Amino acid sequence: MNQQQPTLQIAIDGPAGAGKSTVAKLVAKKLNLFYVDTGAMYRAIAYKALKNEIQIEDEPRVSKIARTTEVVLDHSEERTVWCDGENVTQAIRSPEISRAVPIVASYTGVRERLVELQREAAKRGGVVMDGRDIGTHVLPDADVKIYLTATLEERARRRWGELLNAGKNVSFEEVTHDMQKRDCQDIGRKVSPLQPAQDAVILDTTGLSVEGIVAKIVALTREDER
Ligand code: C5P
Repeated sequence: MNQQQPTLQIAIDGPAGAGKSTVAKLVAKKLNLFYVDTGAMYRAIAYKALKNEIQIEDEPRVSKIARTTEVVLDHSEERTVWCDGENVTQAIRSPEISRAVPIVASYTGVRERLVELQREAAKRGGVVMDGRDIGTHVLPDADVKIYLTATLEERARRRWGELLNAGKNVSFEEVTHDMQKRDCQDIGRKVSPLQPAQDAVILDTTGLSVEGIVAKIVALTREDER
């Protein structure tokens, strides 16, 4: 990767459906940085646990899965997610996984292992990393920290559209309910709960264009370099 700034770290946190991954991917492309989707890692562990018919409430067994599963995020345009050699890119986006993942993500053993992998990924070069605890815990010294949010209605509408496009037959009410429940679980957990870092810039994306948000984050990055 040419002209990459080796140490630049951008942390993007926020609730479900705030547009984190869409924005993070574009910022990474613009600034020639790696993009790391940490939510995909938690989803891959939930997928593996469900596939192996492990009770999602069984913390020791789920934590063991996190320690023994190889999760690889491909950095090509396809952004393929590999779980022990299986391509799980589509499978990890199902409503079933979305319901299981906050439980898996509340386990200390799971988080410790995945945070280790995330910090290793950040050593490869400059990164844009999105998740729930990037600015507060994974990369506490990140150069720019963003907390992206939007109203529940707008976030649910975006997610509902994505699911319909993917051929999933779900109602708007169900998507809203699931999203609200997941946010409450992420905010309410004991380990690394979802919250803005003290030094994060809070961006409400309701009604804003993706391009506008990307431009704002790139501008903040340039300000930080001065
Ligand atoms: O970002 P995404 O919606 O795919 O994340 C799925 C779930 O993974 C979140 O709802 C949360 O429970 C968990 N997660 C987390 N910490 C992160 C990223 C995701 O707890 N850094």
